[in-house]
Formats: sequence, C-alpha cells, structure tokens
Amino acid sequence: MNVIIFGPPGAGKGTQAINIVKKFNLYQVSTGDLLRREVKDKTVIGKDIEKIISKGDFATDEIVNDLIEKIVFDTEKKNKLIFDGYPRSLSQAKNLDALLKKSNQKIDFIFFLNVKKETIINRIEKRSLLENRADDNLTTILRRYDTYMETTKPVLDFYSDNTNFYEIDGSEEIAEIFNKIEQILSV
Ligand code: AMP
Repeated sequence: MNVIIFGPPGAGKGTQAINIVKKFNLYQVSTGDLLRREVKDKTVIGKDIEKIISKGDFATDEIVNDLIEKIVFDTEKKNKLIFDGYPRSLSQAKNLDALLKKSNQKIDFIFFLNVKKETIINRIEKRSLLENRADDNLTTILRRYDTYMETTKPVLDFYSDNTNFYEIDGSEEIAEIFNKIEQILSV
C-alpha cells in the first residue's frame, strides 16, 4: 500500500511516518530529509536548497519532483511508499498522480494530522533545542506555518473528498494517534 501523511510543520508527521514504516514495512519518503541530504552532501543543488530551507520557503517543484521520481520508479519500493511532507503544492500533487499512474500504483490512504498553530510552535521550539535544526527558529517556524497554509491547503482540498482521506487530531499523544492510524491501515 502507498500512504500520504499530511500536516503543518510540527504536527508529528515524521514521527508517525516512522511508526508506520516499522509496523507495515513501508519505505518513508520525506522530501525534507531528501533535501537536507543534498545540502549535507554539498551537491550542485545543495547550496540553493540550503538558502531556501533556512528562509522557510519551499524548494522548487522541479527539484522536489526529480528527487521523488527516482523513488517512485524504484521497483523494490513499489507499493510500499509513505510520503511525508510531499505533496506540498497542487502541482506536486498532480505530479505524484502522474508518476503513480505511470508506474501502475495508487495512493491507498491519505492522513491529515490537524493541529493548531500554538501547539506546533511549542513543539518545534522543543525540537529545535533537541536537534538544533537550523531552520527551526521562531520566525522560520511561523513562516513555515504560513507557507504551509497558503500552499498546502489547496492540496488538502484536492484530496479531502476522497473516500480514503482521514483527518486525525494531531494534538493527541503520539501513541494515541498511532493507534488510530494503525486501526485504519489494518482494515
Ligand atoms: P520538513 O522536514 O518536511 O519540515 O521540510 C523542511 C523544509 O524543506 C521545508 O520547510 C521546505 O523548505 C523544504 N521542503 C520539504 N518538502 C518540500 C516539498 N515537498 N516541496 C518544497 N519544499 C519542501
């Protein structure tokens, strides 16, 4: 099965994605991680990406779509994908649809972790202290939230009519959220 997990930055998508990967033997596709790897490996596009991420902006669809394409067409990962942080714009959602069709796949479950801005700010501040992520200062957090609302909300509207779309309260405890997700995926 292929899964999309959505939610504003700090909603706990990454944590839940890791739990789902372990339990259901899926492969996590985090565009944030893929982009950070480009920066770390100092690739040609890494420098541009570093600037974009540190400002809290979005990487271009071209960059992100290229990174995704390789994974979607990897036969070992076929029908075992969980997308975390992607798609984040309508054009990315349409690109994903096209890539999945081309590779004879589909999305089986879409989760939206819904959480309030205040909760997210608190969580990201804590995470910054623990992980020291350069993009996690307060101004960037607010910027990332607003960018998310502007660009990702239309993606949400795009998927929310689907019968396999599930909205989950992301302000609950990690274990409780995972419990709900697990029940849905186990049907
Ligand atoms: P994340 O780890 O998902 O919170 O992503 C960290 C940062 O990477 C975001 O604030 C964006 O700058 C960038 N990013 C991650 N995923 C995408 C995407 N699908 N499209 C554009 N930019 C992205």
